[in-house]
Amino acid sequence: MELVQALIRKVRRLRMNIIKNFLPENIPCDTKQYFDKGNPSVITIHWIGPYPSQSPDDVRNWWIKSNGEASAHYIIKNDICMQCVPDNKIAWHAGCKVGNHNSIGIEVIPCDEAGRFSDKSINTLKALLDTFPKMPVVRHFDWTGKDCPKFYCNSDEWNKLLKRLGR
Ligand SMILES: [Zn+2]
Repeated sequence: MELVQALIRKVRRLRMNIIKNFLPENIPCDTKQYFDKGNPSVITIHWIGPYPSQSPDDVRNWWIKSNGEASAHYIIKNDICMQCVPDNKIAWHAGCKVGNHNSIGIEVIPCDEAGRFSDKSINTLKALLDTFPKMPVVRHFDWTGKDCPKFYCNSDEWNKLLKRLGR
């Protein structure tokens, strides 16, 4: 059964055409740590901030250039899904150890400054989440109270989004 699930996941990912562009090693935002057994067990959703004009490359370059302690596994904008950290490695996105050590981080570039996700981004996010079928989906907000993803900190908007994501 597990083998079948792994195969389904692989096919779904192939269909998605994820751009693999891992962050270079030996920079501060590469934690060099691998998840413990049983993890990651949760997905954490973020927005990159009120910068709708940014591209996934801009976000990735910013992580590298700023030398900051920030990274995430995926960046989504419309049809583009870029993977920056492998699924078996810990990234720094949740603002707390328990969040980082348990979850995959997905950054979505919003389509406006209020932080809404475009329909295309929601479709791409759904396709990506479908490759993690049994994992609960939470917000950065749920870990630390940070207003991220901003527009969806409102629980009505979050519940509507979850419904569209089939969760
Ligand atoms: Zn966040």
